[in-house]
Amino acid sequence: MPETHRCRSCGSTHSLPVIDLGLQPLANNLLRPEDLGKPEPRFPLAVFVCGECWLMQITDTVPPVDLFSDYIYFSSFSDAMLRHAHAAVEEHIAEKKLGKDSFVIEIASNDGYLLKNFVEAGVPCLGFEPAANIAQVARQNGVETHCEFFGRATAASLREQKGQADLILGNNVFAHAPDTNDFVAGASELLKPDGWVVFEFPYGIEMIDKVEFDTIYHEHVFYFTLTPLIPLFARHDLDVFHVEHLPIHGGSLRLFACHRGAETIRASVTTALEEEAARGVSSTGYYHQFSQRAEKVKADLIAFLAEQKTAGKRVAAYGASAKGSTLLNYVGDAAASLEFIADRSTYKQGRLSPGLHVPVVPAEELAARAPDYALLLVWNFVEEVLAQQQCYRDAGGKFAVPLPVLRLA
Ligand code: ZN
Repeated sequence: MPETHRCRSCGSTHSLPVIDLGLQPLANNLLRPEDLGKPEPRFPLAVFVCGECWLMQITDTVPPVDLFSDYIYFSSFSDAMLRHAHAAVEEHIAEKKLGKDSFVIEIASNDGYLLKNFVEAGVPCLGFEPAANIAQVARQNGVETHCEFFGRATAASLREQKGQADLILGNNVFAHAPDTNDFVAGASELLKPDGWVVFEFPYGIEMIDKVEFDTIYHEHVFYFTLTPLIPLFARHDLDVFHVEHLPIHGGSLRLFACHRGAETIRASVTTALEEEAARGVSSTGYYHQFSQRAEKVKADLIAFLAEQKTAGKRVAAYGASAKGSTLLNYVGDAAASLEFIADRSTYKQGRLSPGLHVPVVPAEELAARAPDYALLLVWNFVEEVLAQQQCYRDAGGKFAVPLPVLRLA
């Protein structure tokens, strides 16, 4: 008998296993060399799907304080994300005709990389960012930032102080909030009668299709398809009225919601729901092949690393990302032979990767040390990294892209 789990959205205990990635350390917890002697906690990392509402979610969560207190992912380090944020803000300002009398809220506003575009356009805005060190950077960037987790209580208190918002944005945070009903209730509470909620998150359909099991880590509680989101939003008096597909993060969904009846439901929603139904999102069969395909990726990587070792070739990696941590720890001991992980973030350099303790070095070191292969752990930025590392490639270095099937670039 598989273990049963309670759905965090609808409360059903009709749970079905999707994938088990074993005991894993926290994916963003890069160690300082002096921490090496200390215990490094590991937690079960597995996903189940609710057999009632078909919401994919992890079995075990880790307290958010452990996850976010010294969170070292600074959005501003990715050129692609900066461009994406700038373009999204321009679209929102035009669509909602935002100006000096409007109010925009972003949940998990990070270092202010997105909201600073609203500040520059003269649109009043405010961010919620739970990591104190990152909230401080945002304030230095001129972005008003509340250092709090977002939910019904914080939303009600902000509503008292500042009123409701025309636009509530949440990029890559919706899937992180374990109490998803509280999170959506907070958005509903803070939204003006004609306001829009716009959430972006990695699309669960893409994860399954492209075998992106490495996007699973403890911070990502949910892996959303659209099907389970309709009842979740409806429970809090919100309609999902539009969705857009985005290429970012290996394939994301941008969801638009409003108060019930405030907007006409667009064809994008009905089409996406029909497509999900046709794929079998509401049936067990859809989830069965996913873990087997992930096992194949793991076996291929272990074989690749063993083959290079035998041939006397040197292998390093690029991108000390959270998804890299999931992938490497799932692969296990074979990945401990990686020479180093090159990364552009000065906050990660000099640290060690979670679990396997591979040293993280500056990105320039890849060309300087010139290993034969670099395993690309940030395949979502493949074009950007290949362009930045042209010198390494010109000198004969090759990237190994692990997903969905191992290939050299
Ligand atoms: Zn459910």
